[in-house]
Amino acid sequence: CGIVAYVGPKDAAPILLEGLQRLEYRGYDSAGVVVVNKGLKMRKVKGRVADLAAAVPARFKGATGIGHTRWATHGVPSDENAHPHLSNDERIAVVHNGVIENADELRAKLEADGAVFLSETDTEVLAHLVARTVKESDSLEEAVRTALKRVVGTYGIAVIDAERPGEIVVARNGSPIVLGIGEREMFAASDVAALVRYTRQVVHLEDGELAVLKADGFHTFASDARETAKEPLTVDWET
Ligand code: GLU
Repeated sequence: CGIVAYVGPKDAAPILLEGLQRLEYRGYDSAGVVVVNKGLKMRKVKGRVADLAAAVPARFKGATGIGHTRWATHGVPSDENAHPHLSNDERIAVVHNGVIENADELRAKLEADGAVFLSETDTEVLAHLVARTVKESDSLEEAVRTALKRVVGTYGIAVIDAERPGEIVVARNGSPIVLGIGEREMFAASDVAALVRYTRQVVHLEDGELAVLKADGFHTFASDARETAKEPLTVDWET
C-alpha cells in the first residue's frame, strides 16, 4: 500500500515513520520499518503507524532504511505478514506494493531450494529470490533486476542489503514509485505526499524501471540494464 525509503546522513527511522504517517490516508492494516546498522534492524506490527512508532526504540540507529504500510492481499493482517520481509540470512529486506501472481509457484521452488517462509504473503518470495541472485551479482541493482525477471505481477518495491549500507534499490511495475532528491540525501516513496516535507525535486519511475539511490544521488535503469536519463520535476504542493 505505502512505501517510504531514505538514505543519507540522518537516522532513517523518524523520517520513515513520518512519511508513513503521511500515507495513512490511503488505508492500511499494518506497518513496519527496517534500517541497516551492522545488519538489519526491523520492527513491524499489525495496527497503526503510531503503534509502530511506539515499538521502535529510541536508539534505532541506521542511516539507510525502508518502511511500509500494508493493505493485505495475500495472508491475514498480522505482525508476521507485515512488511518488510527478510531473507533467511537476514541480509536482504524488501517492502512491496502490489500482487505477485506467480508467488505460489516461486514459493514452492524456493522452499525446495531450502528457503523457510515466515509469512503467508506473496511478497516474501522477493526477499528469498534476491538473497539468491545477490550472491551471483556485482551489484544490488543487478541482483534485483535478475530476481524480477522471474516475477509475474505488479510491484512497487524497495530493497536493501545489509552488506551494502548506504544503498537502496527501488523498482516499479504497475505500482507507483517516486524518487525525492535532497541535499546529500535521497528519498523514495509510493506517493509524493510522503516526500514533500523533505524535498520538492522528484523523479517518477516508469513501469519496468529500476533505480539505485545513494546519499549523493541516483541512477535509473530500464529492465535491459541500460541507464535511463530522467529530468527531475519540481512539485508544487501545500503541506
Ligand atoms: N500483496 C502484498 C501483501 O499482501 C502487498 C500488499 C500491499 O500492497 O500493501 O502483503
